[in-house]
Amino acid sequence: MKGMLEVQNLSRTFKQRERGLLFSATKRLKAVDGISFTVAPGEMLGIVGESGSGKSTTARLLLGHIPASGGEIRFGGERVSARVDANWRRMRRRMQMVYQDPLAALDPRIPVGRQIEEPLIVHRPELPAADRSALVAEMMEQIGLLAHHGNRYPHEMSGGQRQRVIIARALVTGPELLVFDEPVSALDVSVQAQVLNVLEDIRARSGFTGVFVSHDLKVIRQIAERVAVMYLGRIVEIGDVNDIFSNPAHPYTRALVSAVPVPGRSRRSRIVLNGDPPSAIDMPRGCPFHTRCPEMRAACRSIRPELVGKGGRAAACHLVNNPTLSGMEAV
Ligand code: SF4
Repeated sequence: MKGMLEVQNLSRTFKQRERGLLFSATKRLKAVDGISFTVAPGEMLGIVGESGSGKSTTARLLLGHIPASGGEIRFGGERVSARVDANWRRMRRRMQMVYQDPLAALDPRIPVGRQIEEPLIVHRPELPAADRSALVAEMMEQIGLLAHHGNRYPHEMSGGQRQRVIIARALVTGPELLVFDEPVSALDVSVQAQVLNVLEDIRARSGFTGVFVSHDLKVIRQIAERVAVMYLGRIVEIGDVNDIFSNPAHPYTRALVSAVPVPGRSRRSRIVLNGDPPSAIDMPRGCPFHTRCPEMRAACRSIRPELVGKGGRAAACHLVNNPTLSGMEAV
């Protein structure tokens, strides 16, 4: 279906060399571990999780920036792959990424107006220069930049303006799929809200499909219709963002939601998790969250829960999916 993103059993493993005193060994780090989801045309899916959860690797896989170790990604029915061929170039026109760090993504020696124009030169070479300039001016206005900003260099702009430039550059070719990797996490709260509002306006007008990666559930709640919660490379809960916010099922999601400041909610109701997530190199047996889960049952140490549910809502937790366990005491 046009504009629909389908991800099936996607995984990505990195090899890591560990040097010992006498020998070195190659270990495998499962950054993304068999995740599946779909994003409907025009929908925004948020992906949330701590650092090391695999959310940014997922973002790069979705656009074919790195090859997958397994599984399949389809956009509009067509397979997305990291192999650079004619199909890859054609798909790249339809998909764009917005990065977290505009300073790293922008060339310090080129005025930003020219940098917004660059994707048009690459992907729409048939356009006359005057049409390209008109599209750049229109895009800058939509994103809240003034015409004279186009002559500035990245270091002459504020963080919020640079992030708008990055978004304008991603949007100027009219992509059907946009993947955002923590695009507002470096901005202060008021600038963050302005950038998110502009993005929402543009999405309402252009109807692009989106995936928005963030560690901040509050941001995801503002921008996305559905959310996938990731932990150690797996999706542990997925569903409608308001449903999950008001009634989180997975113990990890409950901890994340409890940490979001809500006026009138006592800080004492916050669920504090013990320790850091385990290493993805030495993944624990059973449920990957059992080493930190306040609800852990004996079965969680040995049996890995699958992501199951209905009506678009699913969780990977024995306690949620097998209510008979909830009668047993946590260990
Ligand atoms: Fe916690 Fe067990 Fe559910 Fe894992 S399966 S989240 S350890 S209760």
